[in-house]
Amino acid sequence: MLQPHELTLEEMGDLAEIIPAKDPEVRISYRPIPDFDRPSARSIIPVCEPTLDGNELKYVQQAVETNWISSAGSFIREFEAKFAEACGARYGIACANGTVALHLALATLGLEPGDEVIIPTFTMIATINAVTYCGATPVLVDNEPDFWQMDVADVARKVTPRTRAIIPVHIYGHPVDMDALNELACRHGITVIEDAAEAHGAEYKGRRAGGLAAAAAFSFYGNKILTTGEGGMVTTNDQEIARLAWNLRDHAFSSERHFWHKYVGFNYRMTNLQAAVGLAQVERLDELVAARRQNAALYTSLLRDIPGITTPPEAEWAKNVFWMYGIMVDRGAYGMNRDQLRRVLADNGIETRTFFIPMHCQPVYWDAFKGQRFPVAERLCRDGFYLPSASSLTVAEIERVAAVIDEACGG
Ligand SMILES: *Cc1c(COP(=O)(O)O)cnc(C)c1O
Repeated sequence: MLQPHELTLEEMGDLAEIIPAKDPEVRISYRPIPDFDRPSARSIIPVCEPTLDGNELKYVQQAVETNWISSAGSFIREFEAKFAEACGARYGIACANGTVALHLALATLGLEPGDEVIIPTFTMIATINAVTYCGATPVLVDNEPDFWQMDVADVARKVTPRTRAIIPVHIYGHPVDMDALNELACRHGITVIEDAAEAHGAEYKGRRAGGLAAAAAFSFYGNKILTTGEGGMVTTNDQEIARLAWNLRDHAFSSERHFWHKYVGFNYRMTNLQAAVGLAQVERLDELVAARRQNAALYTSLLRDIPGITTPPEAEWAKNVFWMYGIMVDRGAYGMNRDQLRRVLADNGIETRTFFIPMHCQPVYWDAFKGQRFPVAERLCRDGFYLPSASSLTVAEIERVAAVIDEACGG
């Protein structure tokens, strides 16, 4: 039977200090703040929620009425074409979720045991798991402190003759410094695959995430900027990668004859129902991203002068889409630590989420990276968390969140 990987905080040594406290319970019985509380205001502000009031219902209804609900149907091809176009990529391969989009993109490379794939330690577990599914060896790098993204200088230090791929993750919607990374990868003949699961509409030097490397993987999970409930897509400009990904997605059926297979394929298909929602979502990508950026600008204007609070960065070459609006809390300067502030927010009906726990701190990967340290990722994990970030947030809600943060430390 499968056994869990156990890891106690004692075994982690001083790394235990960065592991966040358990999520505080979000309570409705918050202390009302005059000015921000109106009878109509909802009492709990969720950390994220989808916006589905466009053509979503209409297209789903069309899919049902025409009897096309499975993985054939016109919404899939339309969604693939529209989303790929929105990313500045030639091909889109829709699939079941973001994790399998990553696996599918990596699978086209034909990785073998011993091949190395460089990823940031500061990411969501799916990035490293996709490498593991391929039987390849994940190699971790730290983030840089300025924009909280994969540190390309650290990537350069970790390249070996076995490095086959690099997966930059555009964390929380801010792009990685792709020119530096692509230049490095090109010099060593390494393939770059973007994990763009958090970066729909994000831009690097005016070019969209999803079209910045050999291929990219997107997620359309319920909390992503565009959602299909569950869903994902590989985008690419490479015809060969696209052809393989399309084929592997659908059991690798051969075109020569039916039930004839030359690769180990997968069933990673998306349904027409999901694609119906996806098409309606792509139609409003720009609007949803603009709302995210507007919300972020308001948050930043209200929070940036509070001592000990660091608001999320944006490089001058970047368009950050603020999938999640993350802040860092300096315990000394702010007067309480991140977990204490989260508790105050929860008591006021405000849901938040801590930053990722790095991969080298995970029970399941502990033995693989034992002894390796990544100071920036560890600091992000210790001090960072994100505030309610949905595109649908109101000005009053953002003001209420900011007021609680301002008051909590004695404002
Ligand atoms: C959400 C996410 C994924 C996985 O997407 P799913 O659709 O949940 O499988 C992968 N990578 C990153 C960085 C993510 O944020």
